[in-house]
Parts: sequence; C-alpha cells; structure tokens
Amino acid sequence: MESTKTAMEAFEKLEKVGEGTYGKVYRARERATGRIIALKKTKLHEDDEGVPPTTLREISILRMLSRDPHVVKLLDVKQGVNKDGKTVLYLVFEYMETDLKKFIRSFRQTGENIQPNVVKCLMYQLCKGVAFCHAHGVLHRDLKPHNLLMDKNTLILKIADLGLARAFTLPIKKYTHEILTLWYRAPEVLLGATHYSTAVDMWSVGCIFAELVTKTALFAGDSELQQLLHIFRLLGTPNEEMWPGVSKLKDWHEYPQWKPKPVSTCVPNLDEDGLNLLSQMLEYEPSKRISAKKAMEHPYFDDLDKTHL
Ligand code: AMP
Repeated sequence: MESTKTAMEAFEKLEKVGEGTYGKVYRARERATGRIIALKKTKLHEDDEGVPPTTLREISILRMLSRDPHVVKLLDVKQGVNKDGKTVLYLVFEYMETDLKKFIRSFRQTGENIQPNVVKCLMYQLCKGVAFCHAHGVLHRDLKPHNLLMDKNTLILKIADLGLARAFTLPIKKYTHEILTLWYRAPEVLLGATHYSTAVDMWSVGCIFAELVTKTALFAGDSELQQLLHIFRLLGTPNEEMWPGVSKLKDWHEYPQWKPKPVSTCVPNLDEDGLNLLSQMLEYEPSKRISAKKAMEHPYFDDLDKTHL
C-alpha cells in the first residue's frame, strides 16, 4: 500500500452513506486537504495476514479503469486492521452525491418521468464507461442502478463497484443479509453458463435503460427461477431456434412456453430508435447482443450533444 498513515489518521469519517456488496461506504473528510471523499471499507475474504497479490492486481486494474471519466475514481488505498485482527482495506474514491437508484426513486415519488434527453444522456455515459472497461478486458458482472453513481446537477454518471467482483469473491448474500438482486442478471448467467462474456453487462445495461424510462424494474424476480420466468414472459421462452445451445446450458429445464411480445409492451413511452437499441441489448444469444461500443454508435444517440461526455 502506498501511504504510511493509517486510514483513520488520514480521514475523518462523517457518516455512513451506503452499504455495498462488500462493505460499508462512508462520506469522509481528508484531514490534510479538507477534501470530501468516499471511504469504502472492505474486508478481505482470506483470513490470512496481509493482502493477497490477486487483490493487489485487481486494485491496480481498478485504478487504471478509473482514468475513464465514467468510472468512479479510485484515489488511494489504505490498509488497516479491524478489532478481530483481520486485514481491512480502505478504498478511497472521489465522492459522488447520489446514485441512479435514488435518482429513479425520486422521480417515482413525484410521479414525474425522467426526460427522454436525460435518459439518453445517462445511457450514453453508461455505454461509454462499459465500453472502456470491456476494451480493457474487464467485465463488471453486477451493473445495477445502485452502483451507478451520479451528480444530479451535471447529470454525470460513473460506474462504481468495478473489478471488485473478482478481487473479493462474490458473496451469495450481502453481509447485511440483504439478498443480492437478480433483476439485472443475464439469462445465460441464470441458466448456469460457465463462460461469461462482455454481453452479460450489456443485458444489465438494457434492463437499466428500460428502468430509466418506466421508473420500475423491467424484470423483478425474487428467485433465479422467477427471474427467468419474468424474462421469458416478455421475450418468449427461448428454444434452440432462437438461441442455439440454450438447452445445453447447465441449469436448463423445461419451462412454461410463452411467445415473444414486442418490447414496447413494457416500455410504451420509448421512441422507435430507443426500442430498437433496447431490443438489441435484450438479445438472448450473447454473441448477437449489441456491444457497448456499437451501442454508442446507434442512431438513438444521434441527436445527443456529446461534446462534454
Ligand atoms: P457500492 O458498494 O459501490 O455499491 O456502494 C454502495 C452505496 O454507497 C452506493 O449506492 C452509494 O450510495 C454509496 N457510494 C458508493 N461509492 C460512493 C462514492 N464514491 N461516493 C458517494 N457514495 C458512494
């Protein structure tokens, strides 16, 4: 680790702002500069002393990715020891005022829609950040509104919780015992595919797109089976014709048969270009699903002013 001061000497914790998959997040002040930062306390899964080299590698990936303006910036990493003598890491990030989950909720509460150009601006930044990660060979694997941080005033969006999925083994449940959400999980993951690709993130991006438009989750399943059935009800139960190889996936079973419905039934107030892009994000066959880079070039984004994005 690069700093000699311990986290607690260097920062003053102000308040807990959230709980992520891997630990608590605090708003804190850097004592030396007065700067407000986010401090993410992360317990390591190994019980042994020190930080495993794989974790250090992941942190350097995280730092590299945070060069992108649409990935939350990792400013520093500090090591500490908790009461039980276990190694904890404090990841120091730039502070972001809100996240997309809270942003969507605030619109749901007022009954207002998120303006179409705001949806477009957020989606473009999301695709741009994801394209950058994919270009560097990194999958997020857990994209959801909760870990898309944003600034309400500038509408800047940044991806958080990146790469951690590999550094810190993905828990079945959060340590707060809240169940991990399945709502953004790609069908190939739900069906037990062993080799994931960048397409898993694009599925999540599609689900987030629909949610920005309607302010409700597109597929809100409470178990892996229910999650699949939600997907099948809209897009039709997949078969070998629609998705070659689907019935060979590890967790494939026989399912009730539904015919595909137009995506517009779930997202009625999205324009034609938007619906076309969304359908390509929700393509069953992972190799046919649109990439983040291709998505950025889609006509849906043609009328967006991209100069500051
Ligand atoms: P995460 O573990 O990244 O999913 O974070 C959990 C929650 O903590 C997020 O939904 C945010 O509310 C908050 N949070 C995480 N990172 C930051 C940050 N850099 N700035 C402000 N809040 C954050």
